[in-house]
Amino acid sequence: MATLEHWYWLNMKNNLEAGELWASGLQNNYGTPSISLVKGIGASVWDVEGNEYLDFLGGIATNILGHAHPKIVSAITQQAKELGHVSNLYSHPRVLELAEKLKSMTGQESAKVFFCNSGAEANEAALKLSRLTGRKRIVSTVGSFHGRTFGALSITGQVSKQKPFKPLLKNVVFMPYDDLNKAKRAINKRTAMVIVEPIQGENGVVVPELGYLKALRELTTKHGVLLALDCVQTGMGRTGEWFGYENEGIVPDVITLAKGLGGGLPLGAMIAIGECASLFTPGSHGSTFGGNPIACASALAAISVLESEELLARNKSLELTLKLELSKNPIVSSVRGSGLLLGIVLKNEVAKDFVAKLQNVGVLANATSDSVIRIAPPLVVTDEQINEFIEKFRKVAQTYER
Ligand code: PLP
Repeated sequence: MATLEHWYWLNMKNNLEAGELWASGLQNNYGTPSISLVKGIGASVWDVEGNEYLDFLGGIATNILGHAHPKIVSAITQQAKELGHVSNLYSHPRVLELAEKLKSMTGQESAKVFFCNSGAEANEAALKLSRLTGRKRIVSTVGSFHGRTFGALSITGQVSKQKPFKPLLKNVVFMPYDDLNKAKRAINKRTAMVIVEPIQGENGVVVPELGYLKALRELTTKHGVLLALDCVQTGMGRTGEWFGYENEGIVPDVITLAKGLGGGLPLGAMIAIGECASLFTPGSHGSTFGGNPIACASALAAISVLESEELLARNKSLELTLKLELSKNPIVSSVRGSGLLLGIVLKNEVAKDFVAKLQNVGVLANATSDSVIRIAPPLVVTDEQINEFIEKFRKVAQTYER
């Protein structure tokens, strides 16, 4: 029978109450959210008080097709009716289909996929794979973000995130991002793997010079080192390409994915290409939920919509519109990024205040630092919603002009 507390929970009326419940029931690692979301359609969400927001954060680059996309709802409903979960002691059609699809997206016949549930786990898998080369040294980049588990945190180039949890993995070297001379010094024959994001998302959507990844590919090939591209945030069409590195015309050894991959459901993948694709042998690694049928069905539905509606190509034109229009605001110093992963760099250190004001006018975004606002809306965002965002951004920007 429902207790009084249970009744209260189900009838929660406002954001304040939700915040109180959060603070009493959940640990404080995220802080207490100021709003509680109860419903979403496409790029719109509603909070418990019925307020509507333009979701320009998309679950932090995760809701690639927005909320409640009918194709995803139908795929996961159907799959739940057929087969909700199996262990990896058995195969099932969705995991086979998705592995084939991801292989074809890499364009590499030798590609093989390991499925897990998150970005951190995908990078953990890459780390373990790299150990099987016989080398131990990892080269990562300053400012990078690769996840919060111990291995992934060890290769995350942010002192503030690492410090409370030391000691971390040994043999990790950090080189400045987008600095080829430093890369030449950091990478050598003792290096097992270089891991790098095509765009540093959490660091404020930092885009390297064209040619950086290609040069890293050449350096790693020269020294027999694995090149792992962490495409967790840039992947699944967000930048206008499947993974976010294709403009460099290179083939990495390892690609890690999560966020947009599951179309909103928890799913990660570590794709190994070439010789390293056979390093894992039975017992090397595993995950109970990795490749879960429902998550795979959702991913397949998402990819199918991205393809049939040509959303990757559309991304590029939305990028141009957003860059052009947002740059017109005097407070904006630049808009960087690719496709629908953009960092709006402000001249003043008011990003957090700006984001709070955006929320007050019904727009969700986030500040990656005091001066950078990140937007990563669903790829199904409508032209009208793009215009509404530009207009609301302009109104908030004007409040800083007086
Ligand atoms: N790698 C990158 C590039 C990310 O942006 C993130 C999350 O923001 C991760 C890894 C970690 O992903 P998860 O939170 O799913 O573990």
